[in-house]
Amino acid sequence: MRVLLVEDEKLLAEELVLYLGKEQMVCDWASTYAEASESLAVNQYDFIFLDLGLPDGDGLDLLAESKTYQKHALVIILTARADVDDRVRGLEMGADDYLSKPFSFLELKARMQAILRRKSGWNKEEIKIGGFVLDLDSWMVAFQGEKILLTKKEFSLLHFLLIHPNRVINRFQLAEHIWGDHMEDDYQSNYIDVHIKNIRKKLGSYASVKWLETVRGVGYKIKT
Ligand code: CA
Repeated sequence: MRVLLVEDEKLLAEELVLYLGKEQMVCDWASTYAEASESLAVNQYDFIFLDLGLPDGDGLDLLAESKTYQKHALVIILTARADVDDRVRGLEMGADDYLSKPFSFLELKARMQAILRRKSGWNKEEIKIGGFVLDLDSWMVAFQGEKILLTKKEFSLLHFLLIHPNRVINRFQLAEHIWGDHMEDDYQSNYIDVHIKNIRKKLGSYASVKWLETVRGVGYKIKT
């Protein structure tokens, strides 16, 4: 999960980046409108957390920009503004939810999961495929109640593919998803192949993983 946090309150931003990192998300932080605008133009995000009151512009204008560049990003507005009009306008402009500051990080996480469930049609905190169950709370995969140990990166890759079913996700997108801007220059796309191979090996000893397809020369796809 790759996230853009647009927030000019340094302390809040730093704490949130730390929290999201622990939750296995890659988080880019933009503290100004200009920085956020640049990030929106060059990276693809799964979630955007958007503060409305920025030193050099209005978050609602960024929301409009995000709709141009970020076709799949889900937007949560973070606002201290008492004015409900901004929130309503934000939702009308396509934001998926909003949170009033101060908010608990656990609530933010719960909102994210609720949005993902709503968007994907899943109604539980778990994803099921081919007899396997991914528990999004504990980051565990199980088959008929038996727990399968995946590394954090393996789980993260599998989860990312599963929330984009029937779409080809290329190796670069997958690498960016798990390493983000920290992706090393000497990054090799076969790192992803190695992780996928391990996922197949681990899950494959329980049941068929035919639903995890290789798209030759491109990447991977979950077929449902
Ligand atoms: Ca602010």
